[in-house]
Amino acid sequence: MLNGEKKIKRPYRWAMVGGGRTGNVGYKHRLGALRDNTAFELVAGAFDIDYERCKDFGKNLGVSEDRLYPDYKTMFEEEAKRPDGIEVVSIATPNFTHFEITKAALEAGLHVICEKPLFFKVEQGEEIKALAEKMNKIVGVTYGFSGSQLLLQMRQMVKNGDLGDIHMVELQYTHGFACDEIGDKESEGQKWRVDPEKSGPSFVLGDLSTHTFYMSELVCPELKLKELLCDRQSFVKSRAPLEDNAYVMMRYENGAVGRMWASAVNAGCMDGHRIRIVGSKASVEFSDNQPNELLYQVQGEPIRKMIRSMPYLYEECNADERLGALHAEGLPESWANIYLKFAVAMDAKDRGDEETLKNLVYPDINAGIEGIRWVTKCVESADKGGVWVDFE
Ligand code: NAD
Repeated sequence: MLNGEKKIKRPYRWAMVGGGRTGNVGYKHRLGALRDNTAFELVAGAFDIDYERCKDFGKNLGVSEDRLYPDYKTMFEEEAKRPDGIEVVSIATPNFTHFEITKAALEAGLHVICEKPLFFKVEQGEEIKALAEKMNKIVGVTYGFSGSQLLLQMRQMVKNGDLGDIHMVELQYTHGFACDEIGDKESEGQKWRVDPEKSGPSFVLGDLSTHTFYMSELVCPELKLKELLCDRQSFVKSRAPLEDNAYVMMRYENGAVGRMWASAVNAGCMDGHRIRIVGSKASVEFSDNQPNELLYQVQGEPIRKMIRSMPYLYEECNADERLGALHAEGLPESWANIYLKFAVAMDAKDRGDEETLKNLVYPDINAGIEGIRWVTKCVESADKGGVWVDFE
């Protein structure tokens, strides 16, 4: 159980690029990082593309004025001159900026926590992985929903054979917030998402399904994706070639199969993020809007609802428990769990503790690269007319 006691010697001096006042995801980073007050300390920021807004916002967050910067380059330069300069940066800006900012941050000797989809090309991921190794730094990816401890329960159930042999992986991340094109023209956060220059080769595949694909890798680490077939559509025509809906079929090396539905035009849907693993004996299902329970269905037995924090759950699950039974947890705890693991990973890296790093389950650079590979292969399959393509 987590109770806020420190896990590392002292908090890391932390900054953000992006995630400003109007940003969608910035608050989730601060909520995760600052939850326990023992892992990160927010000391600087280039929070906004608009410097005046950055200064006003940063002051209101309590960051001192002389550490609010017009852009990330100035921040990395100026902070490097300080004896108490930043040690890690989170990147919460539109997709097309992730690569250059991550590269500059590593070159400036910083650990990096970056938003998904990490970059546009697998080669960029490999380049950054090599650079991070050279600089002895961590690159973490904020698959923010994946910190729910019930996903670790699912992982243990799969590992322990509770479901039997794994046969099917059912994945869905859908909503209906982009059913029309009003947001494409008016919303700061939506405009860039439908611009291939800024969003990358996909819309919903990168924006939504990378999260759920990582969840499937987390829960079923032994399943190796062999090939996939993707069909993608732009129901709002002006978005083409970027898709607002996609279906993907998967085949795994061991004969298991899977399906992903990613959509921003699933009208009216408010509960469309889920992962269901079907085995030869039983199935288990997690739904992001019911984060306190797992559905466990054994063939021929009454359906069970496993409730968070209960002693019948595996220790690997309850180790990430924060609030205890009878009290609801959700996305804030998920982000806090992920951020705590980023801090533990950075601390282990700094101390040369490879054993801790090897055993730590968190979205690292490899998870980021697999996310890029996933999007690249889905787009390749769809653009060839919906054909099977090898995953590797
Ligand atoms: P947004 O457009 O709502 O916000 C972007 C923020 O970055 C704004 O504050 C903007 O002023 C700032 N910004 C833009 N360019 C900048 C630059 N060059 N330097 C400094 N600041 C800059 O976008 P968003 O929805 O918050 O998405 C940001 C990233 O987070 C994207 O990569 C997106 O895919 C990802 N995201 C992840 C999650 C998640 O759950 N992990 C959720 C939403 C978005």
